[in-house]
Amino acid sequence: MVVELETLGIDIDEVLADTLNSFLGFYNPRNETDFKRQEFYVYNDWGKIMGVSEQHAMSEFHEFMFSPGGLTIPIISGSQQAIASLRTRYQLVSPTYRSTCFEDITKKYLDSNFQRAISSVEFANHYSTNGGQKLSKADLARKMGFTRLVEDQIHAAIECAEVGVKVYLLKSPWNENVPLPTDLPIFGPFNNWPEITTELMRN
Ligand SMILES: [Mg+2]
Repeated sequence: MVVELETLGIDIDEVLADTLNSFLGFYNPRNETDFKRQEFYVYNDWGKIMGVSEQHAMSEFHEFMFSPGGLTIPIISGSQQAIASLRTRYQLVSPTYRSTCFEDITKKYLDSNFQRAISSVEFANHYSTNGGQKLSKADLARKMGFTRLVEDQIHAAIECAEVGVKVYLLKSPWNENVPLPTDLPIFGPFNNWPEITTELMRN
């Protein structure tokens, strides 16, 4: 008998990959700054926090991603153990805001850090420097068929929850002080991966 597993979406940046910390390690010495992840009370406008144009922030980010740093971003603590457990119960897919230009890097990164446990990746194509169509995470939910999602960004959580996806939020500086809508299936924020895994393995 073939048992069809429920599909679980797992965001990449700040959920599997410690991207912002890693980027700041690249950005700070080049720009003689000392920004820390904890200061980012919003995530989708790094330029605002760093006092530079969004264009400058994105061009630095693209340079970082295509440097050796892009492929060697440390993983978020506990994520490998979580994936090893969750793959026994769910089909795992990754919906990401990353731009399509990072497709090769991203697939290599996931395969080398998560033992090919993630069966597909779709790119919403935000943060692109050369245009192209942007998708929402709700678009990706429809396209990929995930019914649950582990995410760090509130607006992504809300748009997916509005189409019925159960969202598990991983606590981050940009979501810990934001009130969550009480009428939507958004759970957390959870302190860490073990807490999320317990929840996802239980029901
Ligand atoms: Mg993220």
